[in-house]
Amino acid sequence: MIGTERLPQSADSQLASHIFGFIEELFPICRSITGDGLRQTLRHVAARIPLEIHEVPTGTQAFDWTVPREWNIRDAYVSDSQGRRVIDFQKSNLHVVNYSVPVRKRLSLAELRDHLHTLPEHPDWTPYRTSYYRDSWGFCLSQRQLDSLPDGEYEVVIDSSLEPGSLSYGESVLAGESAGEVLISTHCCHPSLCNDNLSGIAVAAFLAQALAARPRRYTYRFLFIPGTIGAITWLSRNEDAASRVRHGLVLACVGDTGPFSYKKSRRGNADIDRVVLHLLKHSGRPYNVRDFSPYGYDERQFCSPGFDLPVGCLNRTQHGKFAEYHTSADNLAFVNPDALAATLRFLLEVFDVLEQNRSYLSLNPRCEPQLGRRGLYREIGGFPDAEVRELAMLWVLNLSDGKHSLLDIAERSGLCFDAIRQAAGDLLKNELLMPLQLEERI
Ligand code: ZN
Repeated sequence: MIGTERLPQSADSQLASHIFGFIEELFPICRSITGDGLRQTLRHVAARIPLEIHEVPTGTQAFDWTVPREWNIRDAYVSDSQGRRVIDFQKSNLHVVNYSVPVRKRLSLAELRDHLHTLPEHPDWTPYRTSYYRDSWGFCLSQRQLDSLPDGEYEVVIDSSLEPGSLSYGESVLAGESAGEVLISTHCCHPSLCNDNLSGIAVAAFLAQALAARPRRYTYRFLFIPGTIGAITWLSRNEDAASRVRHGLVLACVGDTGPFSYKKSRRGNADIDRVVLHLLKHSGRPYNVRDFSPYGYDERQFCSPGFDLPVGCLNRTQHGKFAEYHTSADNLAFVNPDALAATLRFLLEVFDVLEQNRSYLSLNPRCEPQLGRRGLYREIGGFPDAEVRELAMLWVLNLSDGKHSLLDIAERSGLCFDAIRQAAGDLLKNELLMPLQLEERI
């Protein structure tokens, strides 16, 4: 195995608790697509990895979109005639519809109801609602809370502001040997919600940390951006960087205990699609794969036809496919430290394959070389995987005609990439292969 699979169990469980600890640290912050909660979150990320925080002013045009006014909130509540807070933003930031305009008024329960959101099918959960591009206000609460409110007059206060400011996003670039880039993007605009989306933020930050400590053929660019408008804004200002993206992944909902679920890029057969599928297929564990659709996370923007970047989306349980999605039940108890660590390990395997995938030329293309003479055939007696190693060498020798990469060979042979890579390494040591120049079309 590769990546952190080699780590002893104690280091692995330590990693799991560190990733989970970062989620705990970020959980209380009231995030949105703009504002101080988002900035504060980016500063927490910046404390762990080198991160440039960009501020794009309100009103900036980004293709067909405009950077909105900045939203900030200090307090919000609904109080009864005795002045008791019956809905309180201080208890949970989900209680206020995200991007609510400021309000201060008295209303009857009947009038108030038009602004209240509940989930009758889960009477103890509070829903998460937003109103980014339409001036309105509202509160979210559990059905049980709503049912307990007596008729009467209520005071409604939302101490928010919606003013010219900026949209913040974070960018971390780990330079590699080549200018070809790997893009890893995660949205960071949800308030106190864990799987969607603190799991993506935390795993991306730890992934950046792990990759920073490794030699890199590719340059890695991590984006911590507000959903939709953040990706659109980034793309509108970074068309050059976008043109250098060779492989990419959007990370979201990666902390629950469900099996991995992968959404292919719009191209459908990009190397990132092939590598993720190859590793899932050889993992021996259940997984789901779906084709690209223009609905989901920011792969929608990266895979819009004017860019058509090779960017897939990795989840565990897909958004909308778990009952806790966009509710108060997507909390710290819903994400699992070991699942977070396993996601990180899987991602390191993915990038390990991408880093090591290349083409070779057989230096002995006329009939098979005599492997036994070189100690490569049946010399390694006693190893249960000797047969696989020999088979892998025969495949690598046969297909190393300059037209096939190691990933091509792994796919065609049905053997795992790691076996093919090791075989190529053994053949290279014995001067039976020559590495071909890495092709980088910039
Ligand atoms: Zn979401």
